Amino acid sequence: MFEKYRCLACYSDSCELFLRREGVPVQQNFLSLSHSRAVNVPRGDLCMCFCNECGFVFNAAFDQNLMVYDSDYNNTQESSEHFKAHLQTIKDKLVLENDLRNSTIAEIGCGKGFFLKMMVLDEGLNNRGFGFDPAYVGEEKLADGRLVFQKKYFDSSCAGFKADALLCRHVIEHVSNPVSFLSEIRNALAESRDCRLFFETPCVEWIFDNMVIWDFFYEHCSLFSPGSISRLFARAGFTLKKVEHVFSGQYLWLEAANSGVTNTEVISDRHISEKMQKFAAYEKSVLANWRALIHRVRKSGKLAVWGAGAKGVTFVNLLDRDCQLIDFVIDMNPDKHKRFVPGTGHRVTGYNELFDNDVKNVIVMNPNYIEEIRALLGNHAADLNLIIEPGEYNDNSDRYRASVTQG
Ligand SMILES: [Zn+2]
Repeated sequence: MFEKYRCLACYSDSCELFLRREGVPVQQNFLSLSHSRAVNVPRGDLCMCFCNECGFVFNAAFDQNLMVYDSDYNNTQESSEHFKAHLQTIKDKLVLENDLRNSTIAEIGCGKGFFLKMMVLDEGLNNRGFGFDPAYVGEEKLADGRLVFQKKYFDSSCAGFKADALLCRHVIEHVSNPVSFLSEIRNALAESRDCRLFFETPCVEWIFDNMVIWDFFYEHCSLFSPGSISRLFARAGFTLKKVEHVFSGQYLWLEAANSGVTNTEVISDRHISEKMQKFAAYEKSVLANWRALIHRVRKSGKLAVWGAGAKGVTFVNLLDRDCQLIDFVIDMNPDKHKRFVPGTGHRVTGYNELFDNDVKNVIVMNPNYIEEIRALLGNHAADLNLIIEPGEYNDNSDRYRASVTQG
C-alpha cells in the first residue's frame, strides 16, 4: 500500500496512497437534466494520498482541466434550516467575535452570494461586499452598489484590491495547488496589509475519525486537518490567529492576518497518521457493511437516500452504480429536483415523494440533519427507518436496527 507521490503542499515525497477509486464522476454538484447525460459525465480517478511530512491529503490523480464551475454548478445548501443556522453561527463569529462592521469584505467562491448578502444587506453592520465566483448567477450590483458580484476567480488580476476582510468558505478543498492559490491571494492583497482572512473547509480528521467513506470524492482534491492547514498558512506567510472546528466537527474554521509575524509553531496532529491508517484498513469493510445493509432493507420496500449533495452522490456511486437498489435521492433544494445524479442516473426529488411511495427506509447522508428531517417528516417519520450508519450487520437478526434511528 506504499507508493511514492510528491506532496503539493510541502513537496516532500514521503506520501502514502491510502484510497484508490477508478472512474468516479469528476463533479458531484453538477446534477444533469437528463438521465443519459448523467450516466455519461466525465470521469477521473481518486488516488488519495497522505503526506507524512505536513499531513496534507490530496488526490494525486486530480486533473483541474476536467473541472467546470459554471452556472450549472449547484452547491447551495441554504434550503436547510440547520445549514442556515450554521451560517448564522459563522456570521456571529465574524460580527461578534471579530467586529466585522464598517468593512469592505471580499468573498472568494461566493456561490450565489447567500452568505455575503447576510454580511452586507444587514444595514446595521454598514459593510460593503465584493463577491467573486465564475459560477455566480444573479444581479451584479445590489444595495446601491454596496454589494458587487463578479463572475471570475480572485487571482493576480485582482492585484491592488483593497479589503478589510477576505472570506473563503468551501473553496480551498477544490484547489489542487493550495500553495499557489494562497500566494495569488497574498499577491492580490499586497495593498491590504491589515486584511484579515477567514477560511472554512472540511476537516479530514473528522472524515477519518467517523469513517465517512463517501466524503472522499473528486471535487475535493485537497483536504486538511488543523495541523496541515496551519502549516500551509504559515508557509504562505500569513499569521495564523485561530483554527477550530465548526458544524459538529465536520468543518475547520481558520482565522489569519495578512500582516504580522509568521507563525513558527503550528498545531500538532501527531495521531493523524494512525487515523489515516485505520481508515485505509477498514474502508473496505465499511463499504461491505453498507452493501449488506442495503440488500437487506431493500427486501422490505423502496429505499431512498436523503441528500443529493456531494455526500449522497458519492454514496450512490459507491453502492448502487447501476441504479438497481436505491429508488431515488431526496434533496431539500428545489433546483435539484427532476435532475439526475452524475455517474448513476438516480432521480432527485423532494421529500413529499416519500409519502406517495412504498418507501420503508431512508439513508441519511449527514447525521447533522437528522432532527430537521424528523421534524419535516412529522407523523410520517413513524413509518420510516432513518438510517445513519450500517452498524453490525447480521443476516439472521434485526441487529442492524440497533444503529437505525427509529422514527
Ligand atoms: Zn506535505
